Amino acid sequence: MIDSHCHLDHEPLLSNLVNVIKRSKEVGIEKLLTISTSFQSFDRIKQIIQKDEMIYGTIGIHPHETTKNKITSDIIVQNLIENRKIIGIGETGLDFYYNNSNKDDQITSFKEHIEASIETDSPLIIHSREAEDETFNLLRNYRDHNLKILMHCFTGSKDFAKKLLSLNAYFSASGIITFKNSQDLQETFKFLPLDKILIETDSPFLAPVPNRGKKNEPSFISFTAQKLADLRNISKSDLINLTTNNFNKLFFN
Ligand SMILES: [Zn+2]
Repeated sequence: MIDSHCHLDHEPLLSNLVNVIKRSKEVGIEKLLTISTSFQSFDRIKQIIQKDEMIYGTIGIHPHETTKNKITSDIIVQNLIENRKIIGIGETGLDFYYNNSNKDDQITSFKEHIEASIETDSPLIIHSREAEDETFNLLRNYRDHNLKILMHCFTGSKDFAKKLLSLNAYFSASGIITFKNSQDLQETFKFLPLDKILIETDSPFLAPVPNRGKKNEPSFISFTAQKLADLRNISKSDLINLTTNNFNKLFFN
């Protein structure tokens, strides 16, 4: 089992790292991918990935942080080359719901991440909120490059999912699929091909039922795996094998 998206550099995970890692192993997690959100976050991640063999990291700037953190494809490429355990690019993308950074900064930053992904053939971890058309149109412009796309914490429409499938994207399910009011999303995750699905916690955010409202941590991914297995009518161990293989194919091929 792999948590494809967590933020170990955020509190309370950072201060409790030893126990967080221990509990992850106890539920059977074999890899954790801790996701960069800003330059400061990336500095912490470079330390965190040295704490345990199971932890890998990414380099990138969250759309919310793009006005304060200007990144270039060169910086991303350099850090990917220098660090064996930095294996992905992001999280990047577009968030026109919160608009914590202005649209132009978000789009410029997204393009820099995409350029770096093309140069290194590393997967892009994409956040998209209230920006389905803009996200798809931007990605489609690069379709000749066969981008490696991972839609993180996917909550988009089925229509958006279909378009992204035409770009060969992968989709990660978070604890949101365990929420009572997420029927549409559950339908989408029933529809997606089994070889395109990953699982994640997005911890410390979005704890799954029955821990909804608490601070999330990687070990809670077990609940999301069980829910997805139920939705797909397969055993939990099959679901875990499938999503683990999908992760390894995307990040280690
Ligand atoms: Zn995230």
